[in-house]
Amino acid sequence: MIKYLELSKVTAMHADEIRSAVARVVDSGWYLQGEQTRLFEQEYADYIGTRYCVGCGNGLDALTLILRAYKEMGVMNDGDEVIVPANTYIASILSVTENGLKPVLVEPRLDTLQVDDRLIEQAITPRTKAVMIVHLYGRCAYTEYIYDLCRRRGLRLIEDNAQAHGCTFGSKRTGSLGDAAGHSFYPGKNLGALGDAGAVTTDDDELAKTVRTLGNYGSARKYVFCMKGRNSRIDEIQAAVLRIKMKYLDAENNIRRSIAERYIANVSNPLLLLPSVEYCAASVHHIFPVLCTRRDELQTYLYNNGVQTVIHYPIPPHRQLCYAGFAGLNLPITERIHHEELSIPLNQTLDDYEVDTIIQLLNDFK
Ligand SMILES: *Cc1c(COP(=O)(O)O)cnc(C)c1O
Repeated sequence: MIKYLELSKVTAMHADEIRSAVARVVDSGWYLQGEQTRLFEQEYADYIGTRYCVGCGNGLDALTLILRAYKEMGVMNDGDEVIVPANTYIASILSVTENGLKPVLVEPRLDTLQVDDRLIEQAITPRTKAVMIVHLYGRCAYTEYIYDLCRRRGLRLIEDNAQAHGCTFGSKRTGSLGDAAGHSFYPGKNLGALGDAGAVTTDDDELAKTVRTLGNYGSARKYVFCMKGRNSRIDEIQAAVLRIKMKYLDAENNIRRSIAERYIANVSNPLLLLPSVEYCAASVHHIFPVLCTRRDELQTYLYNNGVQTVIHYPIPPHRQLCYAGFAGLNLPITERIHHEELSIPLNQTLDDYEVDTIIQLLNDFK
């Protein structure tokens, strides 16, 4: 069976280095807010191209802390609106509702599967305070139009970079394109820890300080609490692991890209809609989505022939029980994507034979 993603293989690529880095932390006796965290934050900020990086517990916390910090800073208030893509992982939207803010969902484009920037302006109301873009599937959702619109309308631009570590736009990296970005290092992400971890990147020193304070119980000075914060920190073991894995991120993203190029060049089955070549050039291919009207049949066929696939995602956020208030929304493109999307295995551990097998099976599907 070709598994969708075998994390043991991902880790095995750098097992010796990871083991010794973890062992050094174990022996050091210092497990939180130490040297590994400080160095990781510095190296990741340099990598992304921002002045600050603040580590936190996970990707959802990173996004939640950004919005919470904007509330503490007086930029946003309860009930204000944040524009978010309708087809995203639920965490993007949870970060908004968690803060007592209102998510306003905007449809994607079918050719890019990213938020349709032409629809953003009409979603703006007097209560809109921010636009959150999500670099879903490892593809850049940022456009200069969105940036200019946010500047013109006085809105903060927030990036959800959980799926796109290393993705570029021109000479910049996603995570440095807006006012602040949330990153997840969930094990299955392109840059994954061996547990939960996340980070916020920004050039804004007040925001960086506020996020750091909020993630540390609301305390900037020990036992002095200026905000009602929470505990959301990255731990030393995860920071040490991420420092090792970061060194290989670009090379591993290049392997992902070359596999994606092989899929695109060789899969010619008219029943399948693959991403376009041009659009993929800068993608880091966290996920390789294929659209097929007979998606469930395709998934069963691949499984019966030894290939495991995953659906990202089977139910769109506005159809989830927890968001019953959205149930009346009419979002046909989002729903179509959620009905037709199937993610084909794509990661740096696949060998040539596995890629060829997958291509052959996709072409043989009738
Ligand atoms: C994974 C993910 C998150 C959440 O990250 P966690 O570290 O799992 O909390 C947020 N947004 C998107 C788009 C994601 O894929």
